[in-house]
Amino acid sequence: MKPSPEFSLIQQYFQALTMRRADVIVGVGDDCAVLDNPQDCFTAISIDTLVQGIHFFADVDPYRLGIKALAVNLSDLAAMGAKPAWFTLALTLPEINDDWLKQFSAGLADIANDYQIQLVGGDTTRGPLTITIQVHGHVPKDNLLQRNAAKASDLICVTGCLGDAAAGLQYRLGQLDTTLLTDADIGYLLQRLEMPTPRNQIGEQLVGAAHAAIDISDGLLADLNHILTASNRGAKLDLSALPLSVALQKLPEEVATQLALTGGDDYELCFTATADNVMLIKRQFPGLIQVIGEITDKAGLFFRNAQGEWQGFSEIKAGYDHFS
Ligand SMILES: [Mg+2]
Repeated sequence: MKPSPEFSLIQQYFQALTMRRADVIVGVGDDCAVLDNPQDCFTAISIDTLVQGIHFFADVDPYRLGIKALAVNLSDLAAMGAKPAWFTLALTLPEINDDWLKQFSAGLADIANDYQIQLVGGDTTRGPLTITIQVHGHVPKDNLLQRNAAKASDLICVTGCLGDAAAGLQYRLGQLDTTLLTDADIGYLLQRLEMPTPRNQIGEQLVGAAHAAIDISDGLLADLNHILTASNRGAKLDLSALPLSVALQKLPEEVATQLALTGGDDYELCFTATADNVMLIKRQFPGLIQVIGEITDKAGLFFRNAQGEWQGFSEIKAGYDHFS
């Protein structure tokens, strides 16, 4: 099977822009890619599809779309502490638009180079714009980082800031009150929505240091809940500790808190670790790690509000309509 002319086109734009890894024995252009696995590692694999109109707006900048398409996949590798290695791309396009392909490939190549991950194969078909990427990474055999090993009294940490992407989405939908925001704030929120920063460097350092980790794609509460369910534990969260960007801090407190708790698409990491290890990780990544709560032995989710009062999940649920 020869690569389709359409895929050759992407390859033509992409190839010149991207680095070559030594462990790619056969890359794009043959029937299969042939890849050299390190002896001491397992392969971690994840796949994500972005569909126009569902995961991104039709008019989104194709350069940014190229970045996001790979970023959301890199984020899954980060959550497992996997080192990025290779990816494949399946692209469904309504038409061959050279300019669009050129910009999309440039975004894809830029983030691929930043994370040292190489495109090793792909396919193109005609249809509604859809981007599917499968990533492959390496994890050390002796130390897997998963969702299911949170321990009582672990501190719960998140990377970066939360809620920005959801605020950017609300802005695009005309649902965000921008009275107090500057153009720079709005530009920042859109950048966070359209070009998330996967936390692979941090994720790799969590291997052996954190007990459980996940990336925040569906919102902190939903994703933390995956850790709690898989680990059969509960949590106490300090709402005043949620890391909020300068832009989010300008919004009404309830709005910002809701965005930070339930907004998806941030692609930050949530992890649990002992207090000692959290201190070490914080030292490695100054300003990027925030402690937001603690794992409890008993199941259930409790919140400490700004007044210092503890509330059960159901007591504040009414205030946050996206919880369900
Ligand atoms: Mg994930």
